[in-house]
Amino acid sequence: NLNEKLERSFKLLKGQGKITEINVAETLKEVRRALLDADVNFKIAKSFTENVRKKALGMDVLNAVKPSQLMVKIVHDELAELMGGKFIDINLKGNPSVILIAGLQGSGKTTFSGKLAKMLKSKKGRHPLLVACDVYRPAAIEQLKVLGEQIGVPVFTEDGSKNPVKIALEAIRQAKLQGNDVVIIDTAGRLAIDQEMMNEISAVKDAVKPHEILFVVDSMTGQDAVNTAKEFNDRLDFDGVVLTKLDGDTRGGAALSIRSVVDKPIKFVGTGEKLDALDNFHPERMADRILGMGDIVSLVEKAQEQFDEEESRRLQQKLAKNQFSFTDFLKQIQQIKKMGNLKDLAGMIPGMGKALKDVEIEDDAFKHIEAIIYSMTVAEREDPSLLNGSRRKRIADGSGTNIQEVNRLIKQFAETRKMMKIVSQGKNLNRMMGNAG
Ligand code: GDP
Ligand code: MG
Repeated sequence: NLNEKLERSFKLLKGQGKITEINVAETLKEVRRALLDADVNFKIAKSFTENVRKKALGMDVLNAVKPSQLMVKIVHDELAELMGGKFIDINLKGNPSVILIAGLQGSGKTTFSGKLAKMLKSKKGRHPLLVACDVYRPAAIEQLKVLGEQIGVPVFTEDGSKNPVKIALEAIRQAKLQGNDVVIIDTAGRLAIDQEMMNEISAVKDAVKPHEILFVVDSMTGQDAVNTAKEFNDRLDFDGVVLTKLDGDTRGGAALSIRSVVDKPIKFVGTGEKLDALDNFHPERMADRILGMGDIVSLVEKAQEQFDEEESRRLQQKLAKNQFSFTDFLKQIQQIKKMGNLKDLAGMIPGMGKALKDVEIEDDAFKHIEAIIYSMTVAEREDPSLLNGSRRKRIADGSGTNIQEVNRLIKQFAETRKMMKIVSQGKNLNRMMGNAG
């Protein structure tokens, strides 16, 4: 599921003390794939990851104490934003407030009508009237009657009538007489969109002028749900979406796509067959759910700790024994280069930040250093004390630099090493490296 996929993508950040443009890009590629797999519309997945990328780099994730955590937060916020940002409640203006329920057959309209009536009755003290406008299937009318009985809500039916407009108008008239302050009109759906169904529900809409039209969609239908939402919205200009069957193993993709395709808020989610399995839709909570927030954060933290421990133990040993060599130095430089922005990252290497403080940092700066180290023999890299005058001359020639540059590097290295040895004695290297968080 989306959860696990995203988790995996965040694992890419494992071992990275800092996030760089490169591993942000890699992570986002995975996030995008996870979104696509979860039936999120391609364009949306693309613009989503682009937004996250911009935010990540704009927020200077590179220097964050816990970059991967910040990254999770950015993805979380962006997910919530994609789903509308904040909770929008059902509109209950009018007396009675007339609510029209639309959607394909089997999407969960009748079940939702019952759930909504129950919720409005018990939580908002309303007196709903349910209206059976699915005139084609006697079983559908019976289904609504049974639901009404279960929750103690009256159900308006006109046995034998085939005219949903007439039924709806009559129901509203009855509601006024009986003091029902909410009228919930359950309608007929088809297995696929057809003109007749659209004409019929449009006619009901025009006649009763509902205060709220809710489009019900089965979240398990993935990309189809998005297409259906679009067609219904083009025709009905509905006010909100109800995502049903969001229980079990449902992929969250529909929730993510629908909002941005039709630009209408998701207002409710159905999470089961029982009549109290209905929730208001809170984008933040949905984002939590999709991300499995806590899990990812702790997972990332664990990965990070592991990396820090191993790496620092290894370095600490070398430093304590004064064995930090040009080979290690070279490795560190390559690490930095791989990670991207040099200025931001220089500080990661113990002593490096200081050593490089006055150096103009650009790619070339490292090119010379690398060339010089490459021109050393392995023995010289491991034991810099071998580097006498003639060796230095040879290295300068071999690296296309000059003796001053070679001398400067060796001096800098010796100073760095000395400083690192002091630092490493009894000190927490993690803290020095700035990536223990
Ligand atoms: P309608 O044709 O649009 O009126 O759909 P129904 O309300 O009759 O629902 C179709 C099927 O989906 C029924 O078996 C419902 O019990 C089931 N159903 C509806 N909503 C949910 C939900 O949120 N979760 C689950 N698991 N099943 C649901
Ligand atoms: Mg029905």
